[in-house]
Amino acid sequence: MPNQTNPVCRLCRRERVKLFLKGTRCESPKCAIERRPYPPGEHGRGRIKESEYLVQLREKQRARRIYGVREKQFRLYYQKASKAKGVTGARLLQLLESRLDNVIYRGGLAMSRAQARQFVTHGHFQVDGQKVDRPSFQVKPGSKVEVRQRSRSVDRIVEAAAYAAGRTIPEWLNLEAGELRISVLSVPAREMIDVPVQEQMIVELYSK
Ligand code: SF4
Repeated sequence: MPNQTNPVCRLCRRERVKLFLKGTRCESPKCAIERRPYPPGEHGRGRIKESEYLVQLREKQRARRIYGVREKQFRLYYQKASKAKGVTGARLLQLLESRLDNVIYRGGLAMSRAQARQFVTHGHFQVDGQKVDRPSFQVKPGSKVEVRQRSRSVDRIVEAAAYAAGRTIPEWLNLEAGELRISVLSVPAREMIDVPVQEQMIVELYSK
């Protein structure tokens, strides 16, 4: 996650949706959005007139915060998606889903994307046998993402893998839990991407 001065739970409250940024806390009654399901700040409970622009902006911010991507980088993903074949919005989500940190989280080897990002930058993961310490690394169908041999006994990784073991793994990934290895089976189709985002709104925002 980029440097964040506000507590991350405020981001969920701002977007009025669970973004699952804090691991185990997100599933517990301590989750801030369960206790205060309205935006933070003095006017959080007031009525806000939502213009078309504001709705589009919120969708973009929500997507950006889910994946923990900075504005500049998010725009680069959009530009790449708009040049690629297919539906721009779906392609944008596919690029975000294919980030290494997301694959580790989705595949069940981290409790949150933020934790996955930390594991990667600390050099705990390899892709197809090569160490990769860049969370934005794009994985491809056929890739194997796994914990490096020397990191297999790191407590936080063992704990994260055990916690995430109960989660449903999306069908485009396969987890070999005993091997701490995720295989990427395909590019995720839009219907396999479980995020509360209307990507068409983001396309409309950037197309102005
Ligand atoms: Fe969001 Fe998790 Fe905080 Fe709940 S606990 S508000 S889901 S980051």
